[in-house]
Amino acid sequence: MARKVLVLGEVRDGSLRNVSFEAIAAGKTVAEGGELVGVLIGNNVNALGQELIQYGADRVVIVEDEKLAQYSSDGYSQAFMAVVEAENPEGIIMGHTALGKDLSPKIASKLETGLISDVTHVDVSGGNLVFTRPIYSGKAFEKKIVTDGILFATIRPNNINPLEKEDAKTGDISSISVEIKDLRTIIKEVVRKASEGVDLSEAKVVIAGGRGVKSADGFEPLKELAEVLGGAVGASRGACDADYCDYSLQIGQTGKVVTPDLYIACGISGAIQHLAGMSNSKVIVAINKDPEANIFKVADYGIVGDLFEVVPMLTEEFKKL
Ligand code: FAD
Repeated sequence: MARKVLVLGEVRDGSLRNVSFEAIAAGKTVAEGGELVGVLIGNNVNALGQELIQYGADRVVIVEDEKLAQYSSDGYSQAFMAVVEAENPEGIIMGHTALGKDLSPKIASKLETGLISDVTHVDVSGGNLVFTRPIYSGKAFEKKIVTDGILFATIRPNNINPLEKEDAKTGDISSISVEIKDLRTIIKEVVRKASEGVDLSEAKVVIAGGRGVKSADGFEPLKELAEVLGGAVGASRGACDADYCDYSLQIGQTGKVVTPDLYIACGISGAIQHLAGMSNSKVIVAINKDPEANIFKVADYGIVGDLFEVVPMLTEEFKKL
């Protein structure tokens, strides 16, 4: 059944986040041959519309306002609802990011529809659209179908491949004017502590450090390896609690969930709460002095050794490639 599907393009620092293109790919499956409409919300985001089209959107609707320059639940939900009212979609897809996690339940409740969050896979099976999502901290997966209302899902970054970019593709880019009012929060300044370089939740390579790094300086070899591999640095809660790094790097049940192509755990024991945030990574490499460490149970490759010897050796070898 062909559907009209809205896909939110998520903008950060003037650029579209990768998850926007992954959401378009998921939206294409959900649309089942119907129309795919990209939605851009912000201030001065018009120039990004063409990129959404190149990645597969048929056309793009933009809501621009100075008050939308920074994300706020009130502002974005007013803008997104205006697009929903104008377009009357049968499906909505957003990234399962901090923004999507905040915005999607608000929109779902306004539309009085269900929401399937943190989807890792969408396909058509037995005539139904099937959404797969992890449960029990990634230990099992459940498959959901929607029997009524709008098909509304958030997708986990790094799980659904974007469609091939078509540079020559064109499509309509239009604007909707919305009066943004009654904002209960206004963001005056964004202070970033640790997100220099690659965004942790979208990184293809993550080098994570645990209590085994022993100090803030102990993260330096990990940062060097991450730089050589074009990856991001993450951490266990053990390392964050010990003040070796900022909590924004924490991966796990109470931190970020990551699914990179390559996850290198350095001096991390592999507590169940940590595994909840990284065990679905495509390839896991563990470096630990203790051959009995739990992390080796989920690792594809294990290196028993001192991370301060192994990590610099890896960095030197990767530099040669
Ligand atoms: P440790 O368990 O102390 O492990 C350090 C490891 O480093 C050891 O295996 C040791 O052999 C190895 N090591 C030491 N020196 C070296 C060296 N030179 N070279 C190589 N290896 C070395 N944790 C998370 O990570 N994320 C979460 O989101 C999270 N949420 C939690 C929520 C709750 C409700 C609770 C109760 C706990 C949570 N935790 C979380 C904490 C979790 O239980 C563990 O305490 C924590 O993950 C341990 O961190 P770690 O592996 O860095 O430290």
